[in-house]
Amino acid sequence: MAEPVDLPSRLGILPFRNKVLLPGAIIRIRCTSPSSVMLVEQELWQKEEKGLIGVLPVRDTEAAAVGSMLSPGVGNDSGERSLKGPADVLDSQKQDGKNQQKLIHWHNRGVAARALHLSRGVEKPSGRVTYIVVLEGLCRFSVQELSARGTYRMARVSRLDMTKAELEQAEQDPDLLLLSRQFKASAMELISILEQKQKTVGRTKVLLESVPVHRLADIFVASFEISFEEQLSMLDSVDLKVRLSKATELVDRHLQSIRVAEKITQKVEGQLSKSQKEFLLRQQMRAIKEELGDNDDDEDDIASLERKMQSAGMPPNIWKHAQRELRRLRKMQPQQPGYSSSRVYLELLADLPWQKGSEEREIDLRTAKERLDCDHYGLVKVKQRIIEYLAVWKLKPDARGPVLCFVGPPGVGKTSLASSIAAALNRKFVRISLGGVKDEADIRGHRRTYVGSMPGRLIDGLKRVAVNNPVILLDEIDKTGSDVRGDPASALLEVLDPEQNKTFNDHYLNVPFDLSKVIFVATANRVQPVPPALLDRMEVIELPGYTPEEKLKIAMKHLIPRVLDQHGLSSESLQIPEVIVKIIIQRYTREAGVRNLERKLAALARAAAVKVAEQDCMVQLSKDVHPMTSSLLDERLAGGAEVEMEVIPLGVNGQEISNTFSSTSVLVVDEAMLEKVLGPPRFDDREAAERVATPGVSVGLVWTSFGGEVQFVEATAMAGKGDLHLTGQLGDVIKESAQIALTWVRARAADLKLSAAGEISLLENRDIHIHFPAGAVPKDGPSAGVTLVTSLVSLFGQRKVRADTAMTGEMTLRGLVLPVGGIKDKVLAAHRCGIKRVILPERNLKDLAEVPSAILAGMEVRGEGNLRGAEVWLLLSLASDSGGC
Ligand code: ADP
Repeated sequence: MAEPVDLPSRLGILPFRNKVLLPGAIIRIRCTSPSSVMLVEQELWQKEEKGLIGVLPVRDTEAAAVGSMLSPGVGNDSGERSLKGPADVLDSQKQDGKNQQKLIHWHNRGVAARALHLSRGVEKPSGRVTYIVVLEGLCRFSVQELSARGTYRMARVSRLDMTKAELEQAEQDPDLLLLSRQFKASAMELISILEQKQKTVGRTKVLLESVPVHRLADIFVASFEISFEEQLSMLDSVDLKVRLSKATELVDRHLQSIRVAEKITQKVEGQLSKSQKEFLLRQQMRAIKEELGDNDDDEDDIASLERKMQSAGMPPNIWKHAQRELRRLRKMQPQQPGYSSSRVYLELLADLPWQKGSEEREIDLRTAKERLDCDHYGLVKVKQRIIEYLAVWKLKPDARGPVLCFVGPPGVGKTSLASSIAAALNRKFVRISLGGVKDEADIRGHRRTYVGSMPGRLIDGLKRVAVNNPVILLDEIDKTGSDVRGDPASALLEVLDPEQNKTFNDHYLNVPFDLSKVIFVATANRVQPVPPALLDRMEVIELPGYTPEEKLKIAMKHLIPRVLDQHGLSSESLQIPEVIVKIIIQRYTREAGVRNLERKLAALARAAAVKVAEQDCMVQLSKDVHPMTSSLLDERLAGGAEVEMEVIPLGVNGQEISNTFSSTSVLVVDEAMLEKVLGPPRFDDREAAERVATPGVSVGLVWTSFGGEVQFVEATAMAGKGDLHLTGQLGDVIKESAQIALTWVRARAADLKLSAAGEISLLENRDIHIHFPAGAVPKDGPSAGVTLVTSLVSLFGQRKVRADTAMTGEMTLRGLVLPVGGIKDKVLAAHRCGIKRVILPERNLKDLAEVPSAILAGMEVRGEGNLRGAEVWLLLSLASDSGGC
């Protein structure tokens, strides 16, 4: 192998398509095409001594036209040349001789090869001759000229490899020595790795020692799978140094790829064994548990949790997060701390309605209106606004209109309106009470790092309702406060902002939840405490209190049927006549809404239910005796219970009471029964008259979160040093109003004939005490100004105030009466309390348009813009004589 070859000047050429035979490499080829068969036959088979042929790489590209032979050398050392020759069409290795024409590029360098083995075959029945040749590459040559001999090519060649002498000389070159050392080191490394793998110890190492290094380079590279271009470049590396450095690079690359492949295999093996180990341990654990009888089916539990999670429809990023958490849970023991919190968390993720929503049906405005009318009496304007809201929703479902916020006293139907909206939209309804919420975490949840952490109320509500498009009622949004634990209002801002609520972030959940499909409705008793930023996102719809007539209608049409139904009664078993309802409204309740009224009616129904239930039992016992009172009721009366009743069935007749008793007797509530069940009346119209029986007491009208109310102001004087005492849980504004009122009265003392002209000190040797009952309720606001003046004038002038007159209005130091809010509620409150005259700031008279005319018809309303000294007696409510009214 090592001895130099005698290269003839002309060689028969075997073209190698897209392949290179390097010196030292051995390949086996099968020649079938006429040209290659002829080449082998003439150059190898028929020659006596062993012949040589030239193997020349060709690059072919399919071409429309037959191209010319052009072969730029690919090599990069200086001996490179291009050859021109006749046009050529390669068909030497073409299968079954298809006449497919290709433009071929002959390379200008090749390798002389000798046949190590030759075998000839004749195909039957065609008689076609084929050869199988085993060729060994010997040395490089360059092509000087190509010519045709029959069907194959002949080339005039010249030798490229060095002669022995040249080689010996070149080997002295220190650079070459260094390069060959490097190459041998890399080759050695490669051999040892391969030997380790293939257990062929020693065999390849022999090669390293016996073959000269320049041939070794070719032999090594020939065994790698490298690209045609790289093979060509190796062929073109005639210079020894270039060849060696290229070969070293290729060997190193091969080493590198073997190492990477090994690493990957190791990693995969490692992972496999880890999971196999886990599996084995789990199996063992299960076996141990079974042995101990401790078979708590945790695995099954977790599998069912996973199934639940899979069907929850989480978005992909959240699903990934959930899977990570599930993997963590799997690795934990149930007794381990954190197991249950992790589990509860995953249960929440699985329970949340990521995709699930109530089916949205086309909104039918007529049905929606009917529904609102059916559930609520009156409230015409409010209902109209709701219908408008629904109409916009119908036309543009993704329109993000403002959030509706119902504002009004308790019991005026805010909550039930919101639930009617939900029913009209065919959506589920959740109520989230925000009253007293001071902690931001109530809205946003606690981070899971805290012990006992849980999601906020919104996420909790969504989990309960299990759909992502419910109507959520944020009840009492004005009752949230803020303290060191954060500001719930700022969290609510995010909830109500359509831009932000797509990715609402609950601290406990720790992944965003889309709230954009939720319809929010809010309620509040008053607008003022609602933070302005929050108010900005809402449309306030005011629901003032009801008049007694409205309450009566609501009771007869809505409350009584509902209450009867809730107690398993019907109008055939209990009747509450209108007169009785009127009495309840006037004497047992004093409220803007109808909540207490509903409660009182429910108390009646409860008592009646006992009676009816007992009657049913007694029919069997005594058919001819009608029980006037039940034993149960007797007991309650004997025990001094507050709730009593006497039932007088219609058409009482002992003879009529028979088996059909329960279906024919109707219990009708009368006044006596009312008193027995509800106790004595709590309010009456004479209250004002009794309370203003002494000078110094006046009647004001105030506005609270429960609607309008009558507010008495009591002033008294006693020996002292001229101090002013104020009591009744008063705020700063109301205290200042009292100061202003006192100053004004003292300044006008002479005008008002409270003291002699020039003498202004009404306080000489006396203290004044002003009290606002009820003392337990905090009060503030400027609207008591006029009432305070009246009470002080009444005190100093020793004249009683008219009991039928109530007033409201802010006072300035100069006696101007400024307008105040809540006029409708205040007038309704005055009417409720039987007051016949109301004095309002002049500029508030326009607000009377909101008050039902039926209420105004029975009242005298005066507007006052300015309090003027002497006229105050007439203008205000002081009785013209000391006897009062
Ligand atoms: P709020 O939320 O304003 O405090 P609710 O909505 O809870 O009041 O109302 C209390 C009760 O009064 C409910 O049973 C409600 O149906 C009833 N109600 C209030 N206003 C009306 C009305 N206009 N028509 C019929 N029922 C009403």
